[in-house]
Amino acid sequence: EKYIFVTGGVMSGIGKGIVSASTGLLLKSRGYNVGIIKIDPYLNVDAGTMNPYAHGEVYVTEDGGETDLDLGHYERFLGINLSKKHNITTGQIYFNVITKERKGEYLGKTVQIIPHVTDEIKNRIITLAKETGVDVMIIEIGGTVGDIEGLPFLEAARQMWIDLGSDNVLFMHVAMSPILSATGEQKTKPVQHSVQELRRIGIQPTAVIVRSSRPLEDESRYKIALFSNLPREAVFSDHDTITPYEVPLILENQGYGKFLTKKLNINDREPDLASW
Ligand code: ADP
Repeated sequence: EKYIFVTGGVMSGIGKGIVSASTGLLLKSRGYNVGIIKIDPYLNVDAGTMNPYAHGEVYVTEDGGETDLDLGHYERFLGINLSKKHNITTGQIYFNVITKERKGEYLGKTVQIIPHVTDEIKNRIITLAKETGVDVMIIEIGGTVGDIEGLPFLEAARQMWIDLGSDNVLFMHVAMSPILSATGEQKTKPVQHSVQELRRIGIQPTAVIVRSSRPLEDESRYKIALFSNLPREAVFSDHDTITPYEVPLILENQGYGKFLTKKLNINDREPDLASW
């Protein structure tokens, strides 16, 4: 199994869920079996007890799981059915760790975030990938890089990269580049800072996907690549589209699908997007 983590920078709600689903679609259209997990770094065990006005509608999976609405995007984009196991929250992870501690399963050890919480996170992800027999598991980490809540998940992801190697674990970073209304300038500094934050905790993104209201300018791509320690081919534009269903196509047109197969070291095939 291979794993692709999707992280977010600058602010939430910029379209990380759509990029995660699009990443899955471009691999699926090349004949690969894809699964997708949403991580929500909050202490609620599931979304069922959360105010829909604040957090959006609860998405109910076929096994009755009350999950984040991103799972709805994933199912519609990929034409697959997900289960409650595809939505991991901090609440579930701590619940399991504390339950094990009460049963004495840690054999007297001091139970800590590293390694016990991070091991629990890694086990949840890897076990689900094995159980569902996917070629590639995509894991969207909710929130924004730099949030305290997200740190154990990013640390678990970093460890998976060490454990499994760089062609088995990729990091796609989605960040926003604002356009100043007074001058019409596309600003890249917030993207640069969010990549620096990621690198500070030991994660070098494989690609940066830039959300902006306009297509990414050459100058912006150059700057983002330079400051992210990446070639220009690893910086993609995710500009505003009329509907989110166009996002996989604009990414594919920039060579994103081919880039993914190259980085994962798997065969690139002609994508079948005819019915999309
Ligand atoms: P996040 O996962 O970062 O919270 P979502 O993927 O749920 O964000 O996207 C937030 C909203 O933005 C959704 O309504 C989605 O349809 C829309 N959206 C995402 N990408 C684009 C895009 N490139 N153009 C226009 N709308 C988009």
